[in-house]
Amino acid sequence: MEQDQDRAQAKKKGFKQKTKTPMPMQDPEVRIENFSSVELGYDESMAFEESNRCIQCKDPFCVPYCPVEIDIRSMMDAVNEKDYEKAYQIICKDNLFPAITGRVCPQESQCEMVCIRGKKGEPVGIGFLEKFLADWARERGIRPKAEVLPPNGKKIAIIGSGPAGMSAAADLIRLGYAVTIYEALHRAGGVLIYGIPEFRLPKHIVDFEIENLRSLGVEIVLNTLVGRTITMDELIEEHDAIFIGTGAGLPYFMNIPGEQLSGVYSANEYLTRANLMNARSFPEAPTPIHQAKRVAVVGGGNVAMDAARVAKRLGADEVDVVYRRTKKEMPARADEISHAEEEHINFLFLHAPVAIHGNEDGWIDEVELIQMELGEPDDSGRRRPVVIPGSNFRKKYDILVMAIGQGPNPLLARLTPYLKTTKWGQLVIDPDRLKIELDGKQPDEQSAAPDIPILCAGGDIIGSQAGPGGTVIAAMGHGKIAARTIHEELEKREPKQPSAE
Ligand SMILES: Cc1cc2nc3c(=O)[nH]c(=O)nc-3n(C[C@H](O)[C@H](O)[C@H](O)COP(=O)(O)OP(=O)(O)OC[C@H]3O[C@@H](n4cnc5c(N)ncnc54)[C@H](O)[C@@H]3O)c2cc1C
Repeated sequence: MEQDQDRAQAKKKGFKQKTKTPMPMQDPEVRIENFSSVELGYDESMAFEESNRCIQCKDPFCVPYCPVEIDIRSMMDAVNEKDYEKAYQIICKDNLFPAITGRVCPQESQCEMVCIRGKKGEPVGIGFLEKFLADWARERGIRPKAEVLPPNGKKIAIIGSGPAGMSAAADLIRLGYAVTIYEALHRAGGVLIYGIPEFRLPKHIVDFEIENLRSLGVEIVLNTLVGRTITMDELIEEHDAIFIGTGAGLPYFMNIPGEQLSGVYSANEYLTRANLMNARSFPEAPTPIHQAKRVAVVGGGNVAMDAARVAKRLGADEVDVVYRRTKKEMPARADEISHAEEEHINFLFLHAPVAIHGNEDGWIDEVELIQMELGEPDDSGRRRPVVIPGSNFRKKYDILVMAIGQGPNPLLARLTPYLKTTKWGQLVIDPDRLKIELDGKQPDEQSAAPDIPILCAGGDIIGSQAGPGGTVIAAMGHGKIAARTIHEELEKREPKQPSAE
């Protein structure tokens, strides 16, 4: 009775509370000296308080706006009952990786964007709660209770261990398939491991959630570059279906003079050195990274924010983010921009590099920048940056990091002639079911040809052909759709017989 009264009172308070229960954070002056998590996480009382802000809509908008359709409403109910394990297991039914998505999902443009509480205040902190539950469970050694169907004798190969491949594997293993992930790198996780910095996504957490996959029976074969170490044809021979989730690991450059100079990094290389190769611990770790004092980072997305914040933590005194539009047009998440501002990252808005000048040793010395102004909107609806003639000036930097975007990993398609690509190098797929279009064999013909495995693709390798892409959760959503397609098709087939040799 007393408990019911307390709960009613907490609900009443929650309804009145217009803003999210604040997330405890590391102080900016302290955190720029370390790589530990910026967000410290809710405790139980904060999580309970925040769950009371949810008005438990009968027909919640948040659920369909989650690409993996987590039953957010039931999760909220369970948090509200203080049954954290139940809440965790509710998430895990649809997502085996909540500690990852709770940290990196752009909730503001998905579940939280449509939260009714956001109309007159801040939406419910769905992401904060997801992160809390995943951490709460991990700290107690609790793993997802996943039902795995008995083996059905059919084999699936997954190429790439990023979020797309992980999510496809999670669904297929539970349906009784034998699932093997082939990964080119020596560690599984894709961008989650090599790109996103430790202070946003600690790597032991990624490893823990990948272990969820392994514990269900998924085999992960590392150091295997499909196309070279093993060919597509070999995989086709042995498997009933193949999912390609090879991501977008090809960095773009601007093609300006001086990009070949030492000290010019792609964000991909810079972040891989700092994260995957642990270069921040050089010389204890074998990979070095230049200890720069003045750093220019070119770009305005999340990758640029990550590179700039890593540079600061590696000891830079001055980090300039050079962006050709204004803050309003920046594609980076608002939170990431404000965290970067708190960490004394400078922003050179309406500027772009036009050349990089080197010294006699072949190292970057100065970057020549030009000022821009905003003109008419372009195809993306954002106002087009226009050069202001004669506004060039030079600024000294020790390194420059290009973070202007990346394209699909081209190797597999290049080495496998029947994989069709768009002009941007993405694999051509059927956008509803994510089946790959092969040169000479359309998806329907594949279904009718039992010698050809079912081939699907998802994640960054398909770009936005199946809706907005470029996020961890979109890649995971693709993995789910592809798993459904593969299952629908394979249900109608006998397992492939091993080859005679
Ligand atoms: C620095 C950075 C920060 C980001 N921050 C965020 C964020 O905060 N939130 C968010 O939602 N998204 C973020 N993104 C985007 C997000 O990480 C990607 O959209 C997502 O990782 C795509 O998943 P994927 O599985 O398609 O590919 P990836 O994560 O790229 O994984 C692909 C994997 O395939 C492997 N591979 C490639 N070719 C082969 C081959 N031939 N054989 C075997 N293996 C192969 C690669 O080694 C890699 O491990 C960020 C991206 C970067 C680069």
